[in-house]
Amino acid sequence: MNDYPAPALYIDGRWLDTGSAGSRPVVNPADESVLGTLPLAGDAELDLAVAAARRGFEAWKKVPAHARWETVTRATRLLRERADALARVMTLEQGKPLAESRREVLLSADIIDFLAEEGKRAYGRLVPPRSDAILAQAVTRVPVGPAALFTPWNFPMNLPARKVGAALAAGCSAILKPAEETPGSAIELVRAFHDAGLPPGVLNLVCGDPAQVSAHLIGSDGIRKVSFTGSIPVGKHLGELCARGVKRFTAELGGHAPVLVLGDADAARVARLSVAAKYRNAGQVCASPTRFLVHESLFKAFVDAFAAGARQLRIGSGLESETGMGPLIHARRIGAMEALVEDALACGATLACGGRRLNVPGHFFEPTVLIDVPDSARIMREEPFGPIAVINAWDDLDAAVAQANALPYGLSAYLFTRDLALAHTVAARLEAGMVGVNHFGVSQPETPFGGVKESGYGSESGQEGLAAYLDTKLTSFASQ
Ligand code: NAD
Repeated sequence: MNDYPAPALYIDGRWLDTGSAGSRPVVNPADESVLGTLPLAGDAELDLAVAAARRGFEAWKKVPAHARWETVTRATRLLRERADALARVMTLEQGKPLAESRREVLLSADIIDFLAEEGKRAYGRLVPPRSDAILAQAVTRVPVGPAALFTPWNFPMNLPARKVGAALAAGCSAILKPAEETPGSAIELVRAFHDAGLPPGVLNLVCGDPAQVSAHLIGSDGIRKVSFTGSIPVGKHLGELCARGVKRFTAELGGHAPVLVLGDADAARVARLSVAAKYRNAGQVCASPTRFLVHESLFKAFVDAFAAGARQLRIGSGLESETGMGPLIHARRIGAMEALVEDALACGATLACGGRRLNVPGHFFEPTVLIDVPDSARIMREEPFGPIAVINAWDDLDAAVAQANALPYGLSAYLFTRDLALAHTVAARLEAGMVGVNHFGVSQPETPFGGVKESGYGSESGQEGLAAYLDTKLTSFASQ
């Protein structure tokens, strides 16, 4: 049964089932069947969306924060009521197991709720004047303006929720461009806002040619804020486009997370947590643990437990309840995995398990573990963004920390030890926007999510997520 929604654009409160730039199919990555036909926006629809977002901003910024919260939380109630159906849409287009999809829908509602609450607390302050001539100096937080939001296919509702939730809570309007591979989840998110009575123009959705859409929107005078999640090269390019118009920019880019396992850790427990974290969403997670750097005393036990856990994962369609890992998003990701494994083996690495595509329809690749991988291998510096783990041994902690910090990435890092004092000192030395000590759960609605170095610019979620959509304004009063 195909209960996938008919893909459509959403501009100024209306659904459009055609676009002037043609259309493209939306494909189920588990069996390569066509789920629907996505209309693509050309310049005409993009200009309509910018004009709608301008009008929407003028209306929405005047709505009191409490009333904004009421509308937004009506939408999140709808998301929760529809969670089962929406999870199915997500699994059909993205491939992740149904239980992961359902959790993502519910987490999206939580993220939006948290930001809507924070919108009520966008406090300003009164700064004491230096002279009697000044009566008051008021610092207020005002919405930046219409925002263009670009999201990828790996978390097709969660990533739009972080951006849309923050924009709407701050009083901004938005144009969301979800990934063309996974428009259905974003369409259902927008539908919840539509059904909750969000005024026309406040939230718009377009799909199209990503480079053309982003250049057009960022180049439009009406857009004042841009937020992008995706690859580092595209993030750098969009940052350059934003700089031309001095537009506020948030970028959440890739990572290549190190996991330091110290000699006192429980190898079996860490391996169990690591397998779950590494192969979640088939490794297509920017904060996915990739380089496992394990003290030599635990190395063999850790590799054995990790590879045994990886072999046990059932690969298949996310709609089947026993599935532990679904397909990759597109065929070119399979080719990328094969090339990384082949290169690592040529450099002298050993394959502990996996390493091959499945010879069935759909984009399936085995959960893979490479060990003793030399630094010369591409996978030691290129983000795999797929189900490949690297496990290497170390005997010197300083060298292991240096290796963890050696790449231009700095999104997340993880550390496992029972020694609390060491946990503090090593965590402080790790160059990452987020450090998980003895767990992998660094993404929560209440806490900031973002990277340092080339992994990004700014944070999403938490108070910081809202602040990214607010400007600071001073109003200074003197008597006449
Ligand atoms: P890609 O760079 O082609 O696309 C990544 C995302 O960026 C897609 O959603 C795409 O639509 C969008 N995009 C591409 N060019 C754009 C442009 N000029 N303007 C606006 N958006 C644009 O890569 P891909 O093959 O789809 O994915 C592979 C790589 O992307 C991965 O290796 C990973 O590094 C990165 N990625 C990162 C995240 C993340 O959460 N940080 C998510 C998805 C992909």
